[in-house]
Amino acid sequence: MLCTLAAKATPLWVRSAHTLFRKKPMQYRRLGRSGLKVSELSLGSWVTYGTQVDTKAATECMAAAWDAGVNFFDNAEAYARGMSETIMGESLKQLGWRRAQLVVSTKFFWGLNDGPNERNTLNRKYLMQAIDGSLKRLQLEYVDLAFCHRPDPNTPIEETVRAMSDMITQGKVLYWGTSEWSADEIRAAFEIAERHHLHKPVMEQPQYNLFARDKVEKEFARLYGDMGLGLTTWSPLASGLLSGKYAKGIPADSRAAIKGYEWIAERVTDAAKLAKVEKLRPIAAELGCTVSQLAIAWCVKNPNVSTVITGASRVSQVQENMKALDVLPKLTAEMMLRIEAATA
Ligand code: NDP
Repeated sequence: MLCTLAAKATPLWVRSAHTLFRKKPMQYRRLGRSGLKVSELSLGSWVTYGTQVDTKAATECMAAAWDAGVNFFDNAEAYARGMSETIMGESLKQLGWRRAQLVVSTKFFWGLNDGPNERNTLNRKYLMQAIDGSLKRLQLEYVDLAFCHRPDPNTPIEETVRAMSDMITQGKVLYWGTSEWSADEIRAAFEIAERHHLHKPVMEQPQYNLFARDKVEKEFARLYGDMGLGLTTWSPLASGLLSGKYAKGIPADSRAAIKGYEWIAERVTDAAKLAKVEKLRPIAAELGCTVSQLAIAWCVKNPNVSTVITGASRVSQVQENMKALDVLPKLTAEMMLRIEAATA
């Protein structure tokens, strides 16, 4: 009895860190004002599927993410010129998850062919055939999310809005949105859809990480309340830079070492940014996590972010990154200020 009472009376500050910061299970957030729920961490296939990763490795990574509670897998027509969709489609078939449990996306803009209506466009002709190609490669009857991968200044926004809305009416897409559009373009699309009673865009896919904050935190600030914009954010590690692994050069097994991705090599070896990442190292050590986990948890902390799309070239990275959720409760206001000061 005495023991029980003593245990109950143990002040919070003498309990172990383990008791204070319990393992945090995956939470599901509404995609903006829509009713769709997406896992706060998700997994994407850019650079990896079809370039670094074959179907077997992709399947293993997706299974590891699923085991951690991920329900959203991100893709695009242009990734590995359609190969990424083919691989994900094959993986999904092998994994055999119930379709109702799963959220899958694709994106359109760059196209797979060279014709005047097949490249760098969001015109109706391209979009209406592009969705059919993606569904075939993914072996799906519909995708949950379809994004306009970039804005197209050569097509009236109204034409694009009507085509995206029609994909929904046809049952090929459930929700549509944009990626790397400006706040003005997103608002224009929303207002056109509202005026004509068409399906409105519900989400945007911007880059968001400790080194790319302006769009999410400043430019889009009014859109969250005004139109209920949801965010599926990309590159939480700035292509691996925020993992700290580029401190001593480019590892041979990283995306920065791939031929054709020299532009990534240049970005992840930026001396000023590498110096900032080094300042995160002691903070991560204090929190008992890796620098990657700290950087990913920092993105999840923003309540306007519906899901942080992670990337991984191997299962061990998926497992490490999913544990970023355990860091979330440790990101106090004071800790956030220290992280921001380190990377400012
Ligand atoms: P990250 O910035 O998180 O980079 C992921 C890469 O970093 C991995 O592929 C891996 O590359 C490396 N990495 C991941 N975890 C670790 C770790 N724990 N330790 C060390 N290295 C690690 O994300 P992505 O740039 O891949 O973007 C995520 C997703 O967002 C994409 O897959 C895509 O779906 C989406 N996206 C969308 C864009 C858009 O325009 N809408 C643009 C870009 C991405 P490696 O092992 O090769 O070094």
